[in-house]
Amino acid sequence: MKANYHTHTKRCKHAQGEDEEYVLSAIENGYEVLGFSDHTPWAYKEPFSSNTRMDLDMIEDYVISIRELKEKYASKIEILLGLECEYFPEYMDSLKEMIKKYDIDYIIFGNHFYKTDEYREYYGRVCSDDIYMERYLMGAIEGLKTGLYSYLCHPDVFMRARRVFDDVARDISYKICRYAKENDVLLEYNLEGMRIEDEGREAHYPCAGFWKIASEVGNKAIIGVDAHRPDSLATDHYRSIAKKRLSDLSIEVVDELPFKF
Ligand SMILES: [Zn+2]
Ligand SMILES: [Zn+2]
Repeated sequence: MKANYHTHTKRCKHAQGEDEEYVLSAIENGYEVLGFSDHTPWAYKEPFSSNTRMDLDMIEDYVISIRELKEKYASKIEILLGLECEYFPEYMDSLKEMIKKYDIDYIIFGNHFYKTDEYREYYGRVCSDDIYMERYLMGAIEGLKTGLYSYLCHPDVFMRARRVFDDVARDISYKICRYAKENDVLLEYNLEGMRIEDEGREAHYPCAGFWKIASEVGNKAIIGVDAHRPDSLATDHYRSIAKKRLSDLSIEVVDELPFKF
């Protein structure tokens, strides 16, 4: 089954294209399932507007649009309504309320920031510092313990700042992979990281060292396009490379999303 559960929309302020263009691109490229998982808004205690996610007042528009497309294209593709969410401890109750209120199908875990993004400590920028590597690990484990997330997105995103797969990176990779293995958590092989590298920018993920450990530990992977524009779904170039790499590592690739609520 050809599926992708990691798709953004222009509401997050760093993706392009209309929602319908993502759907058409997925249909043309033979996808059977397309899950939208735009960066979730949060009900911040103080006024704060992030430049990497939709604001709270956009959620209704997002939900309505995806549900309309789900109906319109029901005979051609299965569309799911999801969100990519961090684990922000102080805001989890409001996230759960939002999931219930809008009948969200699933959420995936993008462990991007320490505590909340109000502090602007993006792991892809601060993990050059050992203390943030430890925080990344703790945040990942604590978040996964909630049991809410269908999978862990780009588990190796810390490499964006770390750059070199050193002993600290190796240590936290083992811990993440072992926790995922023991708790049956899927790890995402993220195609957007490959695209970023190809465009000449530094991503350093998916990281060969991390996935070698995942292979050793026996993790299962799910491929995520992490589409930020419709044409990311219009090519199998990165998917083919990812499949080959994972197969060479004897890592099982799962296509079906585990639903958690
Ligand atoms: Zn992400
Ligand atoms: Zn994403």
